[in-house]
Amino acid sequence: MINPINVTTVVEHVFCPKFTYYSCVLGLQQYEEKRGTVYAGRKFHARHEKTNTTYLRKNFGNEKILGLKMYSKTYDFVGIVDEAVISDDEILLVERKYSDYNQVSPTIKVQIGLLSILLEENLGKPVRRSLVIFSKDKRTEITVTVDDEVRNFALDMLNEARKVILSGISPKSQYDGRCVNCCYRKVCPVGSLNMAG
Ligand code: SF4
Repeated sequence: MINPINVTTVVEHVFCPKFTYYSCVLGLQQYEEKRGTVYAGRKFHARHEKTNTTYLRKNFGNEKILGLKMYSKTYDFVGIVDEAVISDDEILLVERKYSDYNQVSPTIKVQIGLLSILLEENLGKPVRRSLVIFSKDKRTEITVTVDDEVRNFALDMLNEARKVILSGISPKSQYDGRCVNCCYRKVCPVGSLNMAG
């Protein structure tokens, strides 16, 4: 038995599967202050939770969720929904990214898929779309359709991360641009053998 996996763990697994091994198998702490974009992104969330609570109400639902932790009994995982708006017949998931790189990457897709599953299971309404807001120097909004493909991809990644934790085996990964600012680059052979410092 393992504790319920966190959505963040699965998102990091998609970024690099070795994160799951270092973080959940070896229990190595992540030093997030070295990962500037993640740290800044969290501060961005916090600011919006306090100052922007009426956003979207006019155009969508009346009820808003902010920073709510949820558990999926069906798939045994937990996650925090930073922002969602509820209407009579659906829920709109809102994801804010402190970035001008306005691409819906696999990590964002997995996050959307898992958080949508949490919302649907806990609130009993469908999530059909997610509004992704990229905002740093400029602002871009992209609407992502939440369909079975997104949900199944997210669940596949959840299972992959769980397999690493249960097996305790370090998964393979390749050196590339992800490694440059990675908090595990000094302990990870892929990172440490390919770069100095
Ligand atoms: S250094 Fe590269 S391969 Fe190693 S954990 Fe970090 S991102 Fe993954």
